Amino acid sequence: MTNSNDMPLAAKPIDRAAHRRSDEAWLDTAIQRSDTLILVLRNGEPFCAPDGGLTWFGPEALRLSSGAPRLFLGEDKAGTPVFALDLPPRFDLDASLIAGTGSFNDFRQAAARMTAMDANCACTARSLFLWHQSHRFCAKCGGQNGVIDAGWKAQCALCGAEHFPRTDPVAIMLAVKDGRALIGRQKFWPPGFMSCLAGYCEPGETIEQAAAREMFEEAGILCDPSQAEYIACQPWPFPSSLMMGFILPAGNDEIRIDSAELESARWVSRAEMREILDGTHGELFCPPPTAIAHHIMKVWALRDD
Ligand SMILES: [Zn+2]
Repeated sequence: MTNSNDMPLAAKPIDRAAHRRSDEAWLDTAIQRSDTLILVLRNGEPFCAPDGGLTWFGPEALRLSSGAPRLFLGEDKAGTPVFALDLPPRFDLDASLIAGTGSFNDFRQAAARMTAMDANCACTARSLFLWHQSHRFCAKCGGQNGVIDAGWKAQCALCGAEHFPRTDPVAIMLAVKDGRALIGRQKFWPPGFMSCLAGYCEPGETIEQAAAREMFEEAGILCDPSQAEYIACQPWPFPSSLMMGFILPAGNDEIRIDSAELESARWVSRAEMREILDGTHGELFCPPPTAIAHHIMKVWALRDD
């Protein structure tokens, strides 16, 4: 098993300090501290410096947009409060106080250039802000939801129901047999791009069962969920998945594609997989190290069983 804390986006560098979340007076003071750390996002995209690194602001970030929802991410090792602000979708960067100092960058590309702490903080803020944006109304009565608990909950103003941010478990897996592993591709991916297969866990099943079910549904490969080997997991803010990685011994090797899910799938040897990971395979390439798929493929490729 690989340590999930080593996964990109998954580092746990700050204390979430959940006991602070309902203390409005403490939060109001903390976000004004001269040493407070604030990152800002717009539409889930983090604001980054021209060199690509995440930009950390002090309390002056509060002047960017009055009333922007705030999220208390926690306290760093020195006890410094860490916040995120969700700037409005129409926030006009060119007309703002930070014009010319950076840009809102695509999360995938931005995260690849961030430190472990920055990537985790931006990942958490992106998931929560996107969740609030798509949960403005109460699922019980249709009333307007408000943000409470420093960004970690929503509450209906009409009926008082509390709503909790969701995390969707996804199984992501390699089936392996006789020194080969199965990789596949979706038709809208760039030519030659191949990855692990993956699918959402359904109500009433275990994540291992989801891995085996998806493997059979998408590629016709039979796997025994009790043989699933857990590798690691990774939060994946698109918008709120928890990717749980497995390697599964396959019972057959005849591929039967579900064309609604996959365009193609094929078995590759360890030597081929190492070339794919290194970028030296003439035909195929795979997700970058930001994604857990890369690590699952690498764990298997570097084994000598
Ligand atoms: Zn309600």
